[in-house]
Amino acid sequence: MKNVPEMYGSLVFNDKVMRTKLPKDVYKALRKTIEQNTHLEIDVANAVAVAMKEWAVENGATHFTHWFQPLTGFTAEKHDSFISPTENGGVLMEFSGKELVKGEPDASSFPSGGLRATCEARGYTAWDPTSPAFIKDGTLCIPTAFCSYSGEALDKKTPLLRSMDALSKEATKLLRIIGNTSVNSVMTTVGPEQEYFLINKEDFKKRRDLVFTGRTLLGAPAPKGQEMEDHYFGMLKTRVSEYMKDLDEELWKLGIPAKTKHNEVAPCQHELAPIFDTTNVAVDHNQLTMEMMKKVAERHGYVCLLHEKPFAGINGSGKHNNWSMTTNTGVNLLDPGKTPAENTQFLVFLAAVIKAVDDYADLMRLSVASAGNDHRLGANEAPPAIISIFLGDELTAVIESIEKDEFFHTSEKVSMEMGAKVIPHFTRDTTDRNRTSPFAFTGNKFEFRSLGSAASVAGPNTILNTAVAEILSQFSAKLEGTPEDQMEKAVHDLIRDTIIAHKRVIFNGNGYSDEWVQEAERRGLYNLRSTPEVLPKFLDQKNVELFTKHGVYTEAEMNSRHEIKLEKYCKTLHIEGKTMLTMLYQEFMPAVLKYTDSLAASIAVKKSVAASISCASVEKKLEKLTSLYEELAVLTDKLDVLVAEAESMEEDLEALSFFYHDSVIPAMEAARATADELEVYMPDEFMPYPTYTDMLFYV
Ligand code: ADP
Ligand code: MG
Repeated sequence: MKNVPEMYGSLVFNDKVMRTKLPKDVYKALRKTIEQNTHLEIDVANAVAVAMKEWAVENGATHFTHWFQPLTGFTAEKHDSFISPTENGGVLMEFSGKELVKGEPDASSFPSGGLRATCEARGYTAWDPTSPAFIKDGTLCIPTAFCSYSGEALDKKTPLLRSMDALSKEATKLLRIIGNTSVNSVMTTVGPEQEYFLINKEDFKKRRDLVFTGRTLLGAPAPKGQEMEDHYFGMLKTRVSEYMKDLDEELWKLGIPAKTKHNEVAPCQHELAPIFDTTNVAVDHNQLTMEMMKKVAERHGYVCLLHEKPFAGINGSGKHNNWSMTTNTGVNLLDPGKTPAENTQFLVFLAAVIKAVDDYADLMRLSVASAGNDHRLGANEAPPAIISIFLGDELTAVIESIEKDEFFHTSEKVSMEMGAKVIPHFTRDTTDRNRTSPFAFTGNKFEFRSLGSAASVAGPNTILNTAVAEILSQFSAKLEGTPEDQMEKAVHDLIRDTIIAHKRVIFNGNGYSDEWVQEAERRGLYNLRSTPEVLPKFLDQKNVELFTKHGVYTEAEMNSRHEIKLEKYCKTLHIEGKTMLTMLYQEFMPAVLKYTDSLAASIAVKKSVAASISCASVEKKLEKLTSLYEELAVLTDKLDVLVAEAESMEEDLEALSFFYHDSVIPAMEAARATADELEVYMPDEFMPYPTYTDMLFYV
C-alpha cells in the first residue's frame, strides 16, 4: 500500500511547496494576490517562476505550458521546454516571471464566434494564481485565462472568475447591511460528481459511431439492460477496481481529492466524486479528472466514455454540481446554523437562490444544453427540462410559516426564542432526498443535477453565480438605509415577499411525472426541451443586462458565445448524421445483404437437392429481412438527402439548428429503428461491429 498522504499533491505547486520554496516576502506577496486578488509585481513573479521551475525540474519536468480552457470544451496546452542554450554549447533550464505570467499562443484556430478575425491571430493567456500549477506528463502546467488581443474572454475561466468576483462583492455587501461586518469576501464552492462508462478498447475501435461521436448511433438493446438494478452500488469487478485505484492515485498526485467511487445504474457505468473546493479550482480539477479518466483507461485496455448518452435504452451520464457559498471566515451561507441569527442569514441567502433560479431558469436550462444532454433531460433518467427547486419537507414548512406569518413548530419544540413571529428557529434537516429534482437543497448546499457528463462545469457555475449575485444586489438595494432597529422586520418582510413571489419554482414531488409537466405549465415555468429552443434565450434583453451589469460578459462576448454554442450543436449533428450514413451504407447494409444472400444460397442448395424440400421458414426469414432492408435503404437515402440539405444551409445557424432538430434527428431515429429491428436477426458472424451485448456485458 502506498503512502497516500505523501503521494497526495506531490505533483502540485501547492501552498506547502510555496512556503518552503519561496522567500518569505515573496510568499506573502503571492498569498495576498491569491486571497485578495491584487496585482502581482514582476519581481515577485520572477521569484515565483524560479522556485516553480526548480521544483518542477526536481520532479522530472522538462517543459512548461500555459494550460487553458478555450471554448472547444476541452483544455488546451502548448509545451515549451525550459532549455536555454549557453555559450559553451550546453543548456540551462530557465523560466522567467514574464513566461509565468503571460503567454501568447496563436489563437486563430480556437473558436471565437466572430470576436477575433483570423488575421489577428494573437491571443493572450494570463496566469491564474488562484488555481495551483501542477505537473502532468513531465510538463509544468500553469492554469491560465485566455483572452483576445483586445481583452475579450475566449475561454471558460475568465467569465467564471468574474462571476465569482461579482458574487463575492454582492454577498459581502448584503452581509454588512444585515449586520454581519466580519466578512471580507465570499467564495462559491463546488463538488462535481462525475459519471462515466468504461468499455473495452477493442470494441470501441471497431465502432465508427463511438470513435467519431462518442455515442452509439445504431444498436439493438441487449437481452438484459438495467432492469434488474443489480449494478448500482454493486461489487466492483477486479479489473474495474484496478482502474479506479489507479485513477485515484493519479488524481491524488494532482491534489484532486477524489473521495467516493461506485458502480452506477447502467451496466459499465460508474461514478467518482471529489471533496468540494473553491469553484475555479473545482472546475480545473473536473477538467483534469475527465482527462485522467480517459488516460488511465488506455492503460487498462478500456476506453472511458464521457458522452451524456452513449447507449440508447439505458441511463446516460450526468454530473451533479453541488454548490454553496462560504465566507472568508469559514461560514457556509447555505447551512441553516444553530441560532436564530444564523437562521436569518441562511434564509436571506436561500431566498436569493430561489429567486435567482426562478428569474433566470432559462439561463440555468441553457447552461446545461447540448446535443448530447438533449438525450437525457426529460427522459425519465435525469431531471426534466423544467427547472424547479426541491427544498425538502422541513424547510418547506419553515418557508410556509414565514409566508403565512405563523409560528413554526419543529418536531421537538415550539421555537419562539425571539418572542416574535419574525424568523423561525430550526435546525438542519438531513432526511429527505429527491433524485428527480434538477436543483435540490441537500442540507447545506444545492445540487444542480441537470448537467451532462461531458461538459465543463464552468458555464453552469458562471450563470448560477451571476444570477445569485444579481438578486443579492437587489436585496441590498431594498435593505440599504434601513435603521438598525427595523432591520429584522425588513429582512423578514423581504424573505416573505420573495417566497410569495417565487414559490412557483419550488416543487418537492416527482419531477419525472407527466402531472408535473402540466402543473409546471400552469405555474408558468419554462419547459425548454431542446438545445435549439433554449439557445436564443441567451441574448434576451434581461440576460444581456444581467451579464453586462455584473461585468461577467460584454455583449460582444455574449454574441460570440451564442454563435459558438449554435455552431457546436450543428457540427455535432452533422458529424452524427454523416457517421450514421457511413455505418449504414458501408457496414451494416452490406452485412445484411451478405446474410440474405447466404439465406438465398442455402435455399437454392436445398432446392437443387430436391425441389420438394420445404424451405418455408428460411424463405419467410429472407422475405422479412429483405423487406426490412428495402425499408432501411429508403430511410437511409432520406437521411442522406437531409444531411446534404443541411450542408447547403450553413449561413443561418439558428435556422440550421432547428433543421437538425426537427428534420435530421427524426430521420436518424427512423433509420435506427429499422436497423435495430434488423440487427436482432443478424448472426454474430455477419455483424460488422460489436453489439450492445458485446460492449456492455463483457467488460
Ligand atoms: P451525499 O449525501 O449526496 O453523498 P455529500 O455530502 O457526500 O452528499 O456530498 C456530495 C458532493 O457534494 C461531494 O462532492 C461533496 O464534496 C460536495 N459538497 C459537500 N458540501 C459542499 C459544499 N458546501 N459546497 C459544495 N459542494 C459540497
Ligand atoms: Mg449527488
